[in-house]
Amino acid sequence: NMKVILKHYVSGSPQETDMHLTAGTIKLKASAGSNAVVVKNLFLSCDPYMIFKMMKLERHYSDPYTPGSPITGYGVAKVLDSAHPDFKKDDLVWGLTGWEEYSLITETNHMFKIRHTDVPLSFYAGILGMPGMTAYIGFYELCSPQKGEYVFVSAACGAVGQLVGQFAKLQGCYVVGSAGSNEKVDLLKNKFGFDEAFNYKEEPDFTATLKRLFPEGIDIYFDNVGGKMLDAVLLNLRVRARIAVCGMISQYNLEQPEGVHNLTSIVMKQARMQGYLVFEYYHLYPKYLEMILPKIREEKVVYVEDIADGLENAPAALVGLFSGRNIGKQVVAVNCL
Ligand code: NDP
Repeated sequence: NMKVILKHYVSGSPQETDMHLTAGTIKLKASAGSNAVVVKNLFLSCDPYMIFKMMKLERHYSDPYTPGSPITGYGVAKVLDSAHPDFKKDDLVWGLTGWEEYSLITETNHMFKIRHTDVPLSFYAGILGMPGMTAYIGFYELCSPQKGEYVFVSAACGAVGQLVGQFAKLQGCYVVGSAGSNEKVDLLKNKFGFDEAFNYKEEPDFTATLKRLFPEGIDIYFDNVGGKMLDAVLLNLRVRARIAVCGMISQYNLEQPEGVHNLTSIVMKQARMQGYLVFEYYHLYPKYLEMILPKIREEKVVYVEDIADGLENAPAALVGLFSGRNIGKQVVAVNCL
């Protein structure tokens, strides 16, 4: 059983060399009465939050990884054996699993049975899994978008951002995205249908750029990056703006997070800023599926994935999130069905 283990806790930006591919053995049988499930992993999801589990942080919503043990994360898998009443052999599932070929899963709280297989299975690591729910909850539940509103999305070409932009268009909003390369800007405008997009690395005066692109101001900001971009957005808000604080990837690997200076705008614009953790909303997953599946089938929503091949390429794929190497949802293909 090949697996990716964390070598040691990291501080600052994670490197490929902080992880290690190694061989191990696993019993492919779930003990009776254990509620455990044995799976063959098919796709693994690379997600920015995993950096927190690679650090030894004292205050975080989930425990850090244990050095020497496989990294865990979301994935798509096939059940090989089950002692759990809700899962049986040959079921396809998505949820928390290990970065290894086969996993014995004892914690099945965040495991969902896959019932629709006419769409790519890897989608359950992205649009039909945790990142899809993140876009849906942050945009619809937290921001209550109205037709004609002005929406801005940062890290707009990623797993979550590309969906928020498309949801905004479906809702009849004007939407602008920022991303870190011209290739991504092109995708935003020509594949995902954003009205405008800009390369934040080439336009360092974010406040001026946002002013130009939003002469009337921003009603909804879907924040994936935090830091200076958030500060610039605060200076460009409309009255009663909503900010969904989904993530702050520009701050995750800094020893000292940057300060945010323009919070007074929240008062002046009577704005609302709300953070959230997607797993608190998983009870809404069936509602999301009902909305999104027809849109995928009718190609009203598209999804771009960046698929790395093989566990040996998983560490580089994960680290690449923090330099923007991924174009679309970063997935690792592990085993072919
Ligand atoms: P992405 O697929 O968007 O990958 C991360 C992207 O972030 C990179 O491709 C890169 O794109 C951008 N990025 C990296 N470093 C920086 C930086 N210093 N400044 C600006 N942009 C940067 O990831 P996801 O879509 O999976 O996640 C997006 C955000 O959503 C993250 O902040 C994540 O933590 C958050 N999240 C929150 C959840 C929740 O429950 N609240 C759940 C899931 C995700 P570029 O080339 O544009 O720089």
